[in-house]
Amino acid sequence: MKNGLQEAAFQALARRGVQLEEMARLVQQVVQEQGMDLSLAECRNHLEKVLEKREVLYAILTGVTLDELAEAGALPEPLQEAVANDLPLYGVDEILATSITNIYGAVSLTRFGYLDKKKPGLVGLLNRKLKGGAIHTFMDDLVAGIVAATVARIEHAALKGAARLPGLEKSPPNGLATAAEG
Ligand code: MG
Repeated sequence: MKNGLQEAAFQALARRGVQLEEMARLVQQVVQEQGMDLSLAECRNHLEKVLEKREVLYAILTGVTLDELAEAGALPEPLQEAVANDLPLYGVDEILATSITNIYGAVSLTRFGYLDKKKPGLVGLLNRKLKGGAIHTFMDDLVAGIVAATVARIEHAALKGAARLPGLEKSPPNGLATAAEG
């Protein structure tokens, strides 16, 4: 059952036009590129596990709030200009997204770098919407971070031979932070 924090974060994603199904599809695409074959339902199970984490939910709420305030022209300057125009040297949007990828170790950051550069699927769509006037300065990076974290979670689980049993993997592979669990 969803708690209040998760409920608020899911509502924020919905308000910004981000559907879990689309994120799960992107997860499936990236894991396929990594040579793994997972069903959409399996990808979604892993995604939902990532979306149970408090730090992920707070990152979503923080980024969406800043995007929405910028869209309303309500941020104080010079923040308004930086967020509204996704200024290249602002960079806090990527940093916030790495607070999500950090939970799942270095492989997660690698996958984030790939998504940020290639902007496939939903990440590219949000980025194009940004160019069309809507403000998704944080949202595109948050989606890339969530997808990257989910792919990393699957890769950790695959190392344990448990990719098809989401939630059953109990300990991270050797050398990975214990935070990768869960
Ligand atoms: Mg951005």
